[in-house]
Amino acid sequence: MPSWLITGASRGIGLSIVCHLLKEEGNFVIATARDLSGKGLQDLASKYPKTRLALVELNVIDVASIKKAAEKVGTLLPNGLDYLINNAGIMPQPMTSFEDLDLKLFADELSFSTIAVIQVTSAFLPLVKKSAVKKIIFLTSVLGSLELGGSWPFITNSYSISKAALNMLARKWGAVLKHEGVTVALIHPGWVQTDLGDEIKEWMETYAKNVPQITTAQSSAGVVAVAKSVTIDSTATFYNYDGSKLPF
Ligand code: NDP
Repeated sequence: MPSWLITGASRGIGLSIVCHLLKEEGNFVIATARDLSGKGLQDLASKYPKTRLALVELNVIDVASIKKAAEKVGTLLPNGLDYLINNAGIMPQPMTSFEDLDLKLFADELSFSTIAVIQVTSAFLPLVKKSAVKKIIFLTSVLGSLELGGSWPFITNSYSISKAALNMLARKWGAVLKHEGVTVALIHPGWVQTDLGDEIKEWMETYAKNVPQITTAQSSAGVVAVAKSVTIDSTATFYNYDGSKLPF
């Protein structure tokens, strides 16, 4: 039974990925969140048996929490973790100009997309290496593409820089992990109807009319399909949720 761990599963795309995987037969899903008491996860826990779903507390910016979660997951998965989905994300200053950025918040955001991702991925890597599938997925954004970044002026300045850094992190790490049989993929989940996605709704509807906002169900179905289909031969590639490739 393939095992999946999703960070930031309390709401948005993360929760939707959990729902999607549970609706498919044969997945064991570990939904992690810094607060497990929300209705979304609790409803799922009351609906699915412990053989299909486990809830594990994980705050991705707290080293002690990461360590505790990795130990717990190790006891749940003696045969290793097939899919690690680094999904948790923040966008504290979506509409702020460079001149007006709160630099402390920017540092936190950059740290969230780089240092926290390194800490979480390192903690679960031994379990991923032990598994049959060995895949690590990073939820990134097309807004972090260096090539396309200039198409989105005025918005998401610090977020775009953070995601660009994440893209390089995954690209570099993926090149190393390839030699250990671990497949890495970067996935843009689409522009999605979530708390985060709605932060730029007004700008998108005014200036990016050709970009449709998709539902969490559409996004998570795409992310899961891409996660399953990627192979070691094309590791550390940047994908859209529909499986097409995006430029770094
Ligand atoms: P949401 O804001 O809806 O959800 C963010 C999730 O991250 C929540 O579950 C939140 O948990 C969690 N999170 C935040 N901080 C922490 C933390 N310290 N530890 C653990 N979990 C945390 O965002 P989306 O679902 O829209 O985004 C998911 C991913 O997709 C992100 O990486 C985002 O950058 C990316 N993305 C989203 C797009 C969109 O249009 N929505 C477009 C492109 C990329 P809590 O409830 O505790 O706050």
